[in-house]
Amino acid sequence: MRALTESDVRASFVNADPEELRLIEMPHDFLLIDWDFRDFLAWRDPASSKRGCVVVEVDGRVMGIVLRAADPARARSGMCNICHLMQPGNQVALFSARRAGAAGARGDSVGTYICADLTCHDNVRLAHPLAPNEIRLPGQIDSRLDGTKRRMEGFAKRVLEGLV
Ligand SMILES: [Zn+2]
Repeated sequence: MRALTESDVRASFVNADPEELRLIEMPHDFLLIDWDFRDFLAWRDPASSKRGCVVVEVDGRVMGIVLRAADPARARSGMCNICHLMQPGNQVALFSARRAGAAGARGDSVGTYICADLTCHDNVRLAHPLAPNEIRLPGQIDSRLDGTKRRMEGFAKRVLEGLV
């Protein structure tokens, strides 16, 4: 994805209220992010145990989404709907996102099960490591990685539905 500054990220949120925008903190490693190798950015907010954030590029537009983790985490293992990996119950959580615009103001939200630490981007790569002589180039298509990216974009589109 394109390289973003902290103010780019803050300006990208489509479903955050002013209070959330004020409180959201960037991931600790924000300055170390290698944007060329990231399909999207997702992190648990260091400022709030329940809050998560996703920043994804959809049709050339950078969209930030605030998520809220449901409590408590379910006990059974389950599949993450973004990276499609099976996770133990404490490592997958139901996240909900208030929808953008008028729908969100009415209380509409969309929810899905996602890896509890929101590290799908890395998890899918760790689960499908490259062979020793293989390299992964930016822009190269890998169906599992591409699927993870597409599903995160799809989730973002559901948040935005009704606004566009
Ligand atoms: Zn995942």
